[in-house]
Amino acid sequence: MVCDETLLAAPGVVAAGDVCRWPNPLFGESMRLEHWTNATEQGVAAAKRLLAGEGPAGAFAPVPFFWSDQYDVKIQFAGLASAGDDLAVVHGSVEDRRFVALYGRAGRVVGVLGFDNPRRVMQCRRMVADRVGFDEAVAEARADA
Ligand SMILES: Cc1cc2nc3c(=O)[nH]c(=O)nc-3n(C[C@H](O)[C@H](O)[C@H](O)COP(=O)(O)OP(=O)(O)OC[C@H]3O[C@@H](n4cnc5c(N)ncnc54)[C@H](O)[C@@H]3O)c2cc1C
Repeated sequence: MVCDETLLAAPGVVAAGDVCRWPNPLFGESMRLEHWTNATEQGVAAAKRLLAGEGPAGAFAPVPFFWSDQYDVKIQFAGLASAGDDLAVVHGSVEDRRFVALYGRAGRVVGVLGFDNPRRVMQCRRMVADRVGFDEAVAEARADA
């Protein structure tokens, strides 16, 4: 269901979860997410949108987030990533299977991938939400030893 940035599909009709496509202003692109976190957060936002009625309504602009536990490894990703993005490992190492990596696009941090490092993934997720520059985000993350 195609919605506007407030999750409104038609007067009095909202959508949330796997079925919803909407323009996320944080990334300036239309998206449809298949994550538990999104279904939960978007459901809350869609209900608030309905309650706002004809009144002012804010845009739904989350940092997408999902996780998956694969055997003994917790994999977490926040934000967006695509093949052409810049990539920097800011903690740990891929060889050790415990690391945090940042994705950058057009000079801005757009995603964070973590293997077994939940605390740092959440710190970096905030930088994605705050639209921090990629170089600045890499430096800040590495400084947090
Ligand atoms: C195998 C699998 C593994 C996954 N693993 C992960 C994971 O590790 N992490 C993660 O974040 N996400 C995961 N997901 C995605 C996650 O499950 C979905 O993003 C989330 O459940 C979407 O919630 P939803 O409420 O939008 O839709 P759903 O959970 O699909 O709920 C839609 C409901 O609507 C009902 N329904 C459909 N048609 C009608 C109708 N006509 N009338 C009435 N009811 C109807 C359905 O029966 C269903 O109960 C996984 C999905 C699958 C399939």
